[in-house]
Order: sequence, then structure tokens, then C-alpha cells
Amino acid sequence: MKLDTYQPGSWLGLLGGGQLGRMFAQAAATLGYRVCVLEPDKNAPAATVCERHLCYSYTDPKALDELGQLCCAITTEFENVPAETLKTLANYGRTCPNAHSVSITQDRFSEKEFISSIGVPVAPYALIESEQDCEKVSPDHFPAILKTARLGYDGKGQISVSQLSDLKKAFETLGKVRCVLEKKLDLVREISVIAVRNPQGEIKTFPVCENHHKNGILAYTVMPARISDDLANKARIIASRIVDQLDYTGVLCTELFVLDHDELVVNELAPRPHNSGHATIEACISSQYDQQVRAMCGMPLGNTDQICFAVMINLLGDIWFGENDQIQTPDWSQILKLPNAKLHLYGKHQPRKARKMGHITCLGNTAEEAMETANTVCKLLNLPLLK
Ligand code: ADP
Ligand code: MG
Repeated sequence: MKLDTYQPGSWLGLLGGGQLGRMFAQAAATLGYRVCVLEPDKNAPAATVCERHLCYSYTDPKALDELGQLCCAITTEFENVPAETLKTLANYGRTCPNAHSVSITQDRFSEKEFISSIGVPVAPYALIESEQDCEKVSPDHFPAILKTARLGYDGKGQISVSQLSDLKKAFETLGKVRCVLEKKLDLVREISVIAVRNPQGEIKTFPVCENHHKNGILAYTVMPARISDDLANKARIIASRIVDQLDYTGVLCTELFVLDHDELVVNELAPRPHNSGHATIEACISSQYDQQVRAMCGMPLGNTDQICFAVMINLLGDIWFGENDQIQTPDWSQILKLPNAKLHLYGKHQPRKARKMGHITCLGNTAEEAMETANTVCKLLNLPLLK
């Protein structure tokens, strides 16, 4: 099974029905594969575009058996898939990524231990599992951020801790669960690298993405990042090393911080396609979703070269809410009028504040042109202008 290739026409399994799964399923269909998704919500973004939908929980034994019997390879669009589920599915065929990689990236502490163990720098960190652990931290570790080791996303499960005396209270606020205390670094920039590896060991990385967050959520991505070629190459080499060392199959995103003097540290890993890579759909020869399909099928990887400049803007549910919090759908015809703006909507029925509803990728023959279209989009949608 390790090096098998699965031809178009084969069934691929998908765990999770969010927007990442939806774009994966669309790429798989383009290549002629058939996708079966396991997802408990009947209206989930991916469920409406997959050929088959098993509408059950991720641990339902009958559904897992059906998925395993049908599909030659199975992937996941979220990292918190229960370990047992991946273990069960591994008995039927290829699971991408492997259970080992998922278990490392599910836990911030084991993730940092792994990254350090392969000689790649991370922010200074300490494991906090008890009040005694709080007492052992050196005052030099502050200001810091306390993060729950598991299940954090979009800035959730994190508290800024300015001094040692505030640590116990923060630990209590997070429910005294296993946490990692990270030294707060002065960030010059945030970047990410999407890497892909197939079972034969072929590795490719995409051009570096430059990421801008608001309230802990990705607001927009500029691709390629506005950094030197030398720094971009260093970041891409780190991302390649990570997928290589994990014996990884599929797409993995490495988030990094750029510090003063072009110092790089890895922030976190996502064992799947990533929000910062949406622009690869239009801006690169093969998208991150195409690559996920190719890798899981044991196929040769596509070319990751970028063919035009791009700025990707996330559309959060906030822009659906007008005066007095009445729900009002934006006038998409205004966006569709822009020749270089590509609108993606995920088909979520219920807009909610901070919920990712879609994105717009703005393209250009120059970086300035892409940014100009992006700022036109921002003006039309009443979003703050981008820099
Ligand atoms: P999430 O899983 O929510 O994406 P992250 O660990 O990526 O969590 O943190 C969210 C954001 O918080 C980062 O994108 C960055 O802006 C900021 N941040 C996280 N860790 C640090 C740190 N050690 N120093 C400075 N800023 C940080
Ligand atoms: Mg992050």
C-alpha cells in the first residue's frame, strides 16, 4: 500500500465538511476522483459538493467501516480528528496524514518538542500542567502567552500574561488544562509555507505567504510574502525538513514568525491545507488542494510556481451585519464587477460574527495591482484598508 498509486475514478475519503474540505473536494472532482465525506452536519460546506455524504459522527463505527471499504485513501480537513478514528481507518487503506503526524500537531507541546528536536527554532516555551509548574517558570519568560495545548484555533484558548504573578490566574481561567507558556516575541512579520510530500518522498513547497491577523483570525494574505529571496528560501527549507522528518503524506502548513535581523522561528503546524494557501487556487499552477489529491493518490506532485501576484481577503460573517445587527447579504454584483477579484463563498447558511463565510482572491500582474484590487474590495465591503 505504501507506494500504490490510485487512478482518477477512485473514491477518496474526507473527514470533516468545512470549507477546506469543500475546496479539496472541488479539486478532486476536477481530477476525476470521487469523494465521500464523513460529516455530521447535513448542510456543511463540503457535504453539498461531495458525491457521497455519510452524515454521522466522526467515531461512528458503521460509517467508518463504510468509508474504509469504499475509499482507497482517506484525508482530513481538520487536525482534531479523534486519534481512534484515524487508527481504525488505517486498517483499510492509506490515511493522509499519518496518525503519528496528527498526534504531534494536535498538541502544542509535542509539536514544539518535535520542531526543536529537528534543529528548527521555536519561541521559548514551558509546559504548564499544574500550579507547581507555574511556580517553576523564570521571570525572564515574560511577557508571555499561555495557550491551551490542545484544541486552540483562531486565537481561542490563549491569554496574554505580562508577569509571573499573573500566571496562576491565567492557568485557572483556561480551566487548568494542559498548556504551553510561550515567550511573547516582537514580530516583524508573520509568514507561512505550505509544503506537500507524496509517499514516494517527493517534496514541494509553495511561495511564502505573508499573513495579517485581526483579533486572532487571519484577515488577509499577501502572496508572495514581501521578504528577501534568501529569507523565503530559508523558510521553504524549514517547511520541507518538517514534512520530510514526519515521513508525511499530503499538505502541511508551517506558520513562522520573522523577528529582527531576519531571524525565523516556527509558530505552529497545521497538518492539512491552510487558510493562508487559498490563493494558490488562482495564483499557482497547482493549488494546495490539487497537491493534497495528488499526494494522497501517490501521484507525481504538480508545479507550485506562482503565475501572478495575489492578495487573499477572508470574508467573516461580520460583513453580513448592518445597522442594528440586521442580517444583510453584501451586494456581490459589486465584487463580481471587478475583473481581477475571484469570489469564493462556502455556502454556509448562517452568517455569524467571526465565522469564515468565504474569501476573495485579488490577482495582478504586479504586487501593486493585486493590492489595488484588494483595497477596492475593502472599500466596497467597508473593511479597513490593507497595507
Ligand atoms: P492559533 O492556533 O489560534 O492560530 P497561534 O499560536 O498561531 O494560535 O497564535 C495566534 C496569533 O497570536 C499568532 O498568529 C500571532 O499573531 C500571535 N502569537 C502567537 N504566539 C506568539 C508569540 N509567542 N509571540 C508573539 N505573538 C504570538
Ligand atoms: Mg496560528
